[in-house]
Amino acid sequence: MDQKAVEQAVKQLLLAIGDDPQRPGLVETPQRVAKMYAELSSSIGHRPEDVANYKVFHVDDVPRMVSVEHIPFYSLCEHHLLPFFGEANVAYVPRDGRVIGLSKIPRLVDFAAKRPGMQERVTTDIVNELQRLLTPRGIAVTITARHLCMEMRGINKRGQDTYTSRFTGVFETDDALRREFLMKNEHGQINL
Ligand code: ZN
Repeated sequence: MDQKAVEQAVKQLLLAIGDDPQRPGLVETPQRVAKMYAELSSSIGHRPEDVANYKVFHVDDVPRMVSVEHIPFYSLCEHHLLPFFGEANVAYVPRDGRVIGLSKIPRLVDFAAKRPGMQERVTTDIVNELQRLLTPRGIAVTITARHLCMEMRGINKRGQDTYTSRFTGVFETDDALRREFLMKNEHGQINL
């Protein structure tokens, strides 16, 4: 990311909205915002493997389902550059005993969230990356989120949680398995 260019752009934006980038409260703002964007968009141009080691392990006693629930995430909507945030639930059914470390699942969610996007895209990115890393027998991802672009402006309402889901492989074909996953994660209001 071009830190200086972002700083310039933020200065321009402050001017354009009629504020004064030279007033004391704003003097260091462009620099701060540029640093923040570097972090919030750190996945652009990267693959998950650039950021973490997704080493694949082999287990003999294969679990029916590996599931990590209530993974918090924060992202920026690509339409307004305002935050959307919430929780993701991710599960997969291993193929031939191939698994990754459990801590890598929240890492993957974080990776998918760290660039401007849409909740739908974050959902499918998690699915696609897991598929690429593990080729499991099935993947389930659900995300419940709040979008500040819906709450701070426009319809201006709280309590509009947005839900997305994606199921592949055995999660699509095995109703009991999908139900087991969904029942554990009862999506409801996020208490934030
Ligand atoms: Zn938006």
